[in-house]
Amino acid sequence: MKTFYATEQKRHDPKAFLSSGAAQPNPEQPERVERLLAGARAAGSSIERPANYGLSPIAAVHSPEYLEFLENIYTRWQRIEGASAEVIPNIHPIARNGSYPASAVGQAGYHMADTACPISAETFDSACWSAWSAVAATESVLAGQSAAYALCRPPGHHAFSDVAGGFCFINNSAVAAQHLLKSARRVAVLDVDLHHGNGTQGIFYNRADVLTVSLHADPVRFYPFFWGHADERGEGPGLGYNFNLPLPRKSGDAAFLAALDTAISRIRSFAPDALVVALGLDAFEGDPFGGLSVSTAGFARIASAIAKLGLPSVIVQEGGYLCDALGDNLTSFLTGFGETAR
Ligand SMILES: [Zn+2]
Repeated sequence: MKTFYATEQKRHDPKAFLSSGAAQPNPEQPERVERLLAGARAAGSSIERPANYGLSPIAAVHSPEYLEFLENIYTRWQRIEGASAEVIPNIHPIARNGSYPASAVGQAGYHMADTACPISAETFDSACWSAWSAVAATESVLAGQSAAYALCRPPGHHAFSDVAGGFCFINNSAVAAQHLLKSARRVAVLDVDLHHGNGTQGIFYNRADVLTVSLHADPVRFYPFFWGHADERGEGPGLGYNFNLPLPRKSGDAAFLAALDTAISRIRSFAPDALVVALGLDAFEGDPFGGLSVSTAGFARIASAIAKLGLPSVIVQEGGYLCDALGDNLTSFLTGFGETAR
């Protein structure tokens, strides 16, 4: 299976992060890329650079107002006397149906869900290349490959159509799903990250042509808190096309695989033409976020169960943070997927 990645994706190097209000180093480090590249190579994958596909595949799932904000906010922020080095919001609208502010501070609050997605000079460009890696992997699958892996970093699944959040700016999985619809009639997105894929859910919440399914730690006591509950089923024409499977923390391989069976059965009933796997590796037992206690060998079993669907698949990197086994977990997933899909 091919891997798609561009070196520009490493330039985004966020510093700020608050954990329970306390300043901590930001866990979404460029070093993740090196571990993931090593993991992909160990699985026998060749690394290819994506083309620059321009804004059009990104603008297919993000609003023009938001993309203009992402591109220009850093420069505007630097003109504010005494402002922080990175763009970090300090005020949010309670509801987002009021006026759109003209000020940089107001717009930061409007377009950023939390403080975990600081924007620097390099962020927009890095995020575009990350999305283009997803587009390149999708193009490879549209051209007939059974699967491709997009090493997307920064990740994407917490980004809504016009909101950044949780280390995410452009929703790479949503970009891939929308791009697959060039030839597919129906696409499923299966999110196996530790955290609920709230941005992806939000982007497709009113639609019946993209089924969104997410397995994750129960948000009743875990990020992203306000989304990811089992009763969120979609809206309007999308009612019944969103499926959340919250799991207790530390539930382990067996519980994860049992929930995955339920997810896969829902995907089979939807009968999609193609699949996007939002691959977070932070469900791992040794991940700094505490995880769902999935083992390294467990990722191969998860991959194998997904590959048995037999669908053309774009695998998009989401979370998974610095720990000794990060690369091994990717190797385990890609190997498990490749062996079953073969
Ligand atoms: Zn995550």
